[in-house]
Amino acid sequence: MSGARYPASVRGDLGRALLLDLGLLLVPVALGLLITAFGLDPAWIWPWILLPTLLRHPWLLIRLALLIRRQHRLAPPFPLGLWGEVYRGIARYQQRGRKSRKRQIRFSRRFREAANAVPDALVILDKQHRVEWANPAAAKLMNVRWPEDDRRPFTEILTQPEILPFIEAGEYMRPLDIAPEHNRTIMLSLRITPFGERKKQRLVVGRDITKIYHLNMIRRDFVANASHELRTPLTVIAGFLETLLDAPGTPTPHRRPLTLMRNQTDRMCSIIEDLLTLSRLEMRESSEEQESVDVPDELHLILQEAQALSNGRHGFESRIEEDLLLLGSPPELRSAFSNLVFNAVKHTPDGTRIQVVWQRGIDGVEFSVSDDGPGIPPEHLPRLTERFYRVDRARSRESGGTGLGLAIVKHVLNRHDGRLRIMSELGRGSRFVCRFPGKRALIRDDRDAMPVDEHERPAQ
Ligand code: ADP
Repeated sequence: MSGARYPASVRGDLGRALLLDLGLLLVPVALGLLITAFGLDPAWIWPWILLPTLLRHPWLLIRLALLIRRQHRLAPPFPLGLWGEVYRGIARYQQRGRKSRKRQIRFSRRFREAANAVPDALVILDKQHRVEWANPAAAKLMNVRWPEDDRRPFTEILTQPEILPFIEAGEYMRPLDIAPEHNRTIMLSLRITPFGERKKQRLVVGRDITKIYHLNMIRRDFVANASHELRTPLTVIAGFLETLLDAPGTPTPHRRPLTLMRNQTDRMCSIIEDLLTLSRLEMRESSEEQESVDVPDELHLILQEAQALSNGRHGFESRIEEDLLLLGSPPELRSAFSNLVFNAVKHTPDGTRIQVVWQRGIDGVEFSVSDDGPGIPPEHLPRLTERFYRVDRARSRESGGTGLGLAIVKHVLNRHDGRLRIMSELGRGSRFVCRFPGKRALIRDDRDAMPVDEHERPAQ
């Protein structure tokens, strides 16, 4: 090692230490020479004179080894010479290690204090989904007590049947809302984030959403009840308007206002029907009537209706995999698919080409409706699935839109583990894609429908 690698002060220290060591060696040598000069026999004098100098090295080495082994702190006074430099260097490392340990302890204490102050429940799970750590809020919200529940399987504490599949599925984009068994009065929203080495550990965050949940229930019930209450009087008004318009005795000047009234009543009826559909969809998380839905059949019917609605103003193309079926609720899927196809007719000008596709995708199955219409400005895209959100209110009303169609589509897809993607470019058209996971796909068989992978398995 060249001396140029060390700073001048270190080089100076080492040089001084080396000189000291040489000095220490010179003392017995000089003593030996003096004794020899007095005529004593050097053969037995020399080993005795050099022994202390020679024994000093193993003594200092053994002492150092023992100090390190017993994890003692090396403190001055240090030995003279190069050994002193070694002792001093190790003492410096020890001091640095102590400081960084203190820093780490301070940091983890502060982190723990912060985690303990968080009102949300935080639980860390190991690879086997056992509790590794939890904050105090977890005891109240999830009944997970730490350190008492250390290494206890999480699913043994929160016993809801939907929790294990939720943890194992590994799809943590959406939270899971549950009413924990230890306290049915609260509503928890669970979010899971994988972290740590190869993302094998899990951080479970449980948020108390009781208030939001109850507010949502009140809103949902209010909308459902109000829509329900309005439906009956509106049906009566619509019926009488229809009768008046059909009656030959109705004076001609009254016909126009009556027609306008009937149109507006029809619009209100559509809004109420859509609101009731949305309320029904919101009532339960996932669709209960799960059966094999003959999507190709439904799409042929929807295309016929769309052509009737278009009345020859649009061009239609379709690419439908005739043997591809889907596990789900027939009325819900019909409503979602027809909303998207009818939207392409309602919101695009004459001459627009509309393409409907139903096919197997890379990871699942997809239904898409594309048009080469005027497209939707990008700033509207994130809000399209909101209730009553319309790009052009006046035009949507004219075309009989309620502004609830895409909200219904989104809800239906949520209940079928599906996702809606909307792509649009001004002047080039729009594309609405519904993706469903492969586990919901079924293949039409002569006997019956069967899951896709079973169908693709080679005959044995
Ligand atoms: P609406 O009842 O008005 O159709 P939706 O929720 O179905 O309500 O659609 C929301 C808005 O999205 C529509 O008002 C319309 O402005 C826009 N939109 C939907 N589909 C298309 C499309 N294919 N092309 C252009 N705009 C569309």
